[in-house]
Amino acid sequence: MEATIVLYGIVAALAELLGGSLVVLRKQWPKQVQEYLLALGAGFILALVFLELIPESLKAAGSYAPLYILLGYAVLHFFEHTIVGHLHFGEETHPEVMVSRIASISTFVGLFIHAFFDGFAISVGMRYDFYLGLLIFFAVLLHKIPEGLTIASVMLAAAHRRRTAFLASAAIGVATMLGIVSVFLLTDIDESIVGAAFAFTAGVATYVGASDLIPEINHSRNRIIPLLVFGGMLLFYGGTVLLGPMVGHAH
Ligand SMILES: [Zn+2]
Ligand SMILES: [Zn+2]
Repeated sequence: MEATIVLYGIVAALAELLGGSLVVLRKQWPKQVQEYLLALGAGFILALVFLELIPESLKAAGSYAPLYILLGYAVLHFFEHTIVGHLHFGEETHPEVMVSRIASISTFVGLFIHAFFDGFAISVGMRYDFYLGLLIFFAVLLHKIPEGLTIASVMLAAAHRRRTAFLASAAIGVATMLGIVSVFLLTDIDESIVGAAFAFTAGVATYVGASDLIPEINHSRNRIIPLLVFGGMLLFYGGTVLLGPMVGHAH
């Protein structure tokens, strides 16, 4: 089981690296693709939060679930937008605010912690209920390429070398793996801790959808992008219809 979870983590980390490589190698690629991925990712993860993660959290952690959900949301808010001044998903296009190396390092730290919790969420989800973990994995995967783009482009905007920008995206991939492995340390601990950790990840996922991804979509000038959020919700529905019977999950 742990080997399977590690494999999913590696796929997510590789998507991160792919995003970073696109920026570092300055490959010609359609820029709208990152917005499409962010919009689909937002719709998918928010449907996952409201239809599965919150109801399941209430089962897993009982009356304490709302507190853990809020805690998960608060922890990401603290690391991404309280101690970090300028962090948003997608390629960095504001070099004027990103000239400082200190700003780029604090963005790096914010994304490192975000990515740690991406991995943590996949791993806790799979540990709690493999089917839910699989859905969390897809939700994370959808925004991993834009995440790799984000960190590599922030590093370049702060005049770091290309090699450093690439290594930064690799390090964010490693953070995802650390999140995956950290859950294995919970193995011998009471199942109630797993329930609490699961509710915490529901808060983390809410933050990623509503505060990391949705604001980027609202900034887009392309009017197709907000519509694609509904596409992400439909994608989630399609995913549950397909995956549910495959892993023998019934509601
Ligand atoms: Zn910016
Ligand atoms: Zn992420």
